[in-house]
Amino acid sequence: MPEEPPVRDELKGVEPYGAPQIDVPVRLNTNENPFPPSERIATAMGEAVADAARSLNRYPDREALALREDLAAYLRAESQVEVDADQIWPANGSNEVMLQVFSAFGGPGRLAMSFSPTYSMYEQYARDTLTAYRTVRRNPDFSLDATTAVAAIIGGAPAIVVLTSPNNPTGTALPLEVISAACAIAPGIVVVDEAYAEFRRPGTPTALCLLEVHPNLIVTRTMSKAFALAGARLGYAVARPEIVDALRVVRLPYHLSSATQAVARTALSFADELLGQVDTLRGERDSMVAWLRDRGLAAVDSDANFVLFGRFADRHRAWAALLEHGVLVRETGPEGWLRVSVGTPEENAAFRTALLEVVSRDGMMAPDMPGAAAEGTP
Ligand SMILES: *Cc1c(COP(=O)(O)O)cnc(C)c1O
Repeated sequence: MPEEPPVRDELKGVEPYGAPQIDVPVRLNTNENPFPPSERIATAMGEAVADAARSLNRYPDREALALREDLAAYLRAESQVEVDADQIWPANGSNEVMLQVFSAFGGPGRLAMSFSPTYSMYEQYARDTLTAYRTVRRNPDFSLDATTAVAAIIGGAPAIVVLTSPNNPTGTALPLEVISAACAIAPGIVVVDEAYAEFRRPGTPTALCLLEVHPNLIVTRTMSKAFALAGARLGYAVARPEIVDALRVVRLPYHLSSATQAVARTALSFADELLGQVDTLRGERDSMVAWLRDRGLAAVDSDANFVLFGRFADRHRAWAALLEHGVLVRETGPEGWLRVSVGTPEENAAFRTALLEVVSRDGMMAPDMPGAAAEGTP
């Protein structure tokens, strides 16, 4: 046996993050948009990449200026908020943006705080940047109120507060008053991860409108979900220019390839078409929640493109049973719950059919769930 490589103690024996990539007919486990770009858009992207290829001997625009202009124009139209290109910072997925945020604002002797259950990657950005990390529990219904958030922030004095809205894996959006209260009391920066913002229900606000009032606020967005562009890797931060400047200090040189910039700009020029399925997905999501509740299951209200549902006596058993039917969902969140991404109407129907069979099995539901009450009856 060769010796283990001499990695840092906290990395010893750690498995890389990632949902299982299993090739099954119905993949509803990573919150992707199930509708691929049309032929027309794929062709336009191909042409844009070919164009970029003609100068691949050169490094890309390391400030990604044209892309940042396009992203600013997109946000002005999407959220009716005044933002300029110098307030936007793009990178390879919002994951990379977030790592840059932790690199610039975290570090040894500093604390990052988030509210659980939430996205498990935050802990890894903290680990990789030697930032301490603490989570504070949300309410039992997965909401977060200003009192809890403010008390936690006063108690921990975090350099970075991460508020995920809509939250993954619960789908819960935060009221603006909670974000405002957090920004007002936080001694450091507050990041609102809005990866799922475009799926929010009517009346649910975006934190972008608070940028003007709170100088310590960063909002992150991504093209991976609503834009159906997960494979291209493009996420971005929106903040005041001074914060963007701090991110520019820690980014790797030429971090965003010419090909990525070309694909993202092409996608933005087709924003209406790419986002055209968002309404369908929101409708499917709302009917999924209603359907689950009609069947006596618990389902959390969602402003995203997934639904957290349960509760199972043994959620791994339920997950595996769904997989037997060719339906892959995500085993995440609190014990007893599973998360399903909203797919095409056909995929959602396949999920519902599989789930009906699975919940009919003995002992599948948690003992206090209505579905479990039937157990033991002949
Ligand atoms: C999917 C997701 C992201 C997006 O990651 P990308 O790197 O942009 O693909 C960010 N935050 C949360 C909470 C997510 O669920």
